[in-house]
Amino acid sequence: CGIVAYIGPRGATGVLLEGLQRLEYRGYDSAGVAVAARGGLRVRKVKGRVADLAAALPAERAAEAADPAGGGSARGRGRKARALSVGIGHTRWATHGEPNDVNAHPHLDGSGRIAVVHNGIIENADALRAKLTADGVVFASETDTEVLAHLIAAAAGEGVELEEAVRSALTHVVGTYGLAVLDATRPDRVVVARNGSPIVLGIGEKEMFAASDVAALVQYTRQVVHLDDGELAVVRADGFSTFTEDARATAKTPDTVDWEV
Ligand code: GLU
Repeated sequence: CGIVAYIGPRGATGVLLEGLQRLEYRGYDSAGVAVAARGGLRVRKVKGRVADLAAALPAERAAEAADPAGGGSARGRGRKARALSVGIGHTRWATHGEPNDVNAHPHLDGSGRIAVVHNGIIENADALRAKLTADGVVFASETDTEVLAHLIAAAAGEGVELEEAVRSALTHVVGTYGLAVLDATRPDRVVVARNGSPIVLGIGEKEMFAASDVAALVQYTRQVVHLDDGELAVVRADGFSTFTEDARATAKTPDTVDWEV
C-alpha cells in the first residue's frame, strides 16, 4: 500500500516513520521498517498504525527524523560527515495472508540479509513458493511478497550486484509491484522497481528518497523522478541510475513538484 525508502545522513528510521505517516490517508492494516545496522538489518513490523510501529521502536531512533546532522546533541559531532543511514518502510493493505505482525512487511530471506517491501500482487506466488520450498526454503509468512525476498537472495550470489539480483529475480515474477529492496551487505544502496504500482525517487543534497507517492517526499525535496512500468533504479546517497528489466540503461529527467506541503 505505501512504500518509503531513504539513504543519507539523517536517521533513516525517523525519515521512514514520517514518510509513512504522510501516506496514512490511504488506509492500511500494518506497518514496518528495516534499517541497515552493523552489517545486519534491524527490522520492526506490527499490525496496526504507524503510531503503533513508532511505539515499538526505541524512542530516540523514532525521533531522529528530520535533522540531517542526525538529531540529538550536536556536541562532539563537529564537521565530521555522519555515516550513511539506509532503510525501507511499508504500510500494508493485505491481499495474501491475514493482517498480523508476521505478514507485515518488510519480508526477509532465510539468512536475514535481504529485506523487501512490496505493493501489489504476485500472481504466480503459489508456483514460486512451491518451487522454492522444494529447494529447501522455509517460509515465515503467508504473503505473496515473501517469495521476492527468497528469489532475490538466491540470485544475490558472490560478485552479483544487488540491482542485478533484483532484476534477474523479477524475470521469474508475474504480477504487479512497486518494491524496495535492502541488502545488509550493501548498505550503500536501495534498489527499487515498478510494474503497475507507482515508485517515485526524490533527489536530495547528498541524500536520496524513494516512495510510492510524492506525498512522502515533498517535505524533503521537490526534485523527483517517476519510474515507468518495467523500470528499476539503484539509489545511492549521491545519485541514482535507472534501467529496464532486460538490463538496458534508461535516461530520466527530474520533475519539480510545485504543490504546497
Ligand atoms: N500483496 C502484498 C501483501 O498482501 C502487498 C499488499 C499491499 O500492497 O500492501 O502483503
